[in-house]
Formats: sequence, C-alpha cells, structure tokens
Amino acid sequence: MLPLGCDLANHRLSARLALPPMPPALPPRLIVLSVCSALLLAGCYQVPVTGRRALDAVDDKALKEQSVAKFNEMKKRTPISRNRDYHDRVQRVGSRIAKVVFWDLPDADWEFVVFDGPQINAFAMPGGKVGVFAGLFRVAQNDDQLASVLAHEIAHITARHTHERLSQAMLVQGGGLALGGLVAAQTGNIYTAGSAVQTASAIGGIGLILPFDRAKEKEADHIGLIYMARAGYNPEEAIKVFEHLEAENAGKPQPGGWISTHPSYPDRILQMMDLMPKALAAYRQSGAKPVPVLVK
Ligand SMILES: [Zn+2]
Repeated sequence: MLPLGCDLANHRLSARLALPPMPPALPPRLIVLSVCSALLLAGCYQVPVTGRRALDAVDDKALKEQSVAKFNEMKKRTPISRNRDYHDRVQRVGSRIAKVVFWDLPDADWEFVVFDGPQINAFAMPGGKVGVFAGLFRVAQNDDQLASVLAHEIAHITARHTHERLSQAMLVQGGGLALGGLVAAQTGNIYTAGSAVQTASAIGGIGLILPFDRAKEKEADHIGLIYMARAGYNPEEAIKVFEHLEAENAGKPQPGGWISTHPSYPDRILQMMDLMPKALAAYRQSGAKPVPVLVK
C-alpha cells in the first residue's frame, strides 16, 4: 500500500520538471475498502460450537497442501517417539475426537504422531495433521486429559483460526501478502513459552510459528471442551491439565513474549467452569455419533 502523502510528492516533482501532473493515486482508504470488499466477498465462516462469524478468504486446498507438506517434512527431521504406550494412547484418543468433529472437518486426512522430545506441547495443522511431543504426557496423565489437549488443538483447526489470521493479515497488508510465506507449521501452543520455543526449534526452518491470540485460545478451549465431552471423555479432567501445568511451572521464571497474549491459567479455568454444565450434558449424551473416519 502506498504511504500517505505519496500523491502530494508526485505533484511537486511533476511541477518542477514541467511535466503534466501524474494522475492521483487511488486513495489509501479506497484501496483498503476494495481489498476488504474482495475479502468479504470471498467468504465468511461460522465457527463450530461458538457460532461466531469469522473472515475466511484463504484457499483451503492450498493451505491444506502446504500443511501436509510441512508435517511430512517435520516427520523426516524430528525423531518419532518409540514409546508404544504413548503412540497407542494418541491413536486411541485422537481417533475418537476425529469422529466427533467429522462434520466440522469432513475432508481431513487425520494423522497423529508422537515426536520424541521433552517439551510439553502438541499442535494441529489444517488438513488434520496432529503432533504431540512426548513431554506432554507429564501433564496429560490419562486419556481424558490427553483428550482435552488434542481437542483444544483440533478446535483451532475446525475453527479455522489459521485461515482467519491469514485473512486478517491479507487485509492489513492490502491483499499483498504471499500466502506461501506465512502458511507453515501452524502450532496451537497452549502451554509454556519454553515449550513453544522448543517446538519452534524442533520444527525449525520449515515455517513460522505463530501463536494465537487470547480470544482464539479461549475459543479453542471452549470448542475443545465440548469436543472431548462429545467423544466421551470427562470434561472435568481438562482442568486437571492446567493444575499439572502449574505444578510443572512452579518456581520457574514467568514466561514473557508471546505468552503474555495468552489467557492466564486461572482465566482459562474459570471459563471452563462456566462451560462445564454444557460440557457435562454433552458428556452424558456421548457415544451416539458413529461416524466413519479414516485415521492413519
Ligand atoms: Zn491453543
């Protein structure tokens, strides 16, 4: 986008050279309006569970292809855990959550991989690629707790948070953003700044790690809580994951940087408690959604 005042400078230069004045540049506001209109025409998306309307002007197929490529690259670069128990747990829990989100992400090609590494972290990428680091099992100590983490990460994908952020970035940059430069290994880090850095390091070189903002984290908590309940996992166990995280982080320096944009644990726990009656109702009704889904 042209900076303000560009048009005026051109007029002065033209006068000095005795040339006819250049035609006025398109006013910046008009440029933005045009880009906004194009994006708004391109699409609006209704987020599952919360029903929020979100901007989505991203080519879903291209985003999925890039995510799959990045995930495959990561599998080559990062050691896969040899822990059979971790692997079985992630497949077992992941497949149940994949079933209940079938209609929110019908074209997903699900794949759940446990990477070797001490970081307490997990991520999901558009298209249904989910990674878990072995360190996560320190705080996800049973299937219900693991379900809360996987459901949160998957909620970022069904809510199209990556699409929304890319669409907003395109707006900010006047539509000139190259999709390929930004789309990459999208992680939904929810835990600690340290683990985010470690994850970024593990994925290193294959793309940007961009944390989600507070609102998207809380929305993923909300959606994830309902997903895990629908999959037949006790939503009350989600709160225990945060208690384990607090215990893990006790005595450690408070994380700075991007973590400051994340809701605090008490804030997130309070939201979960508010949503608990709705989640428990879904939990009681679970087990009634036999939808076929292919999980690698
Ligand atoms: Zn998240």
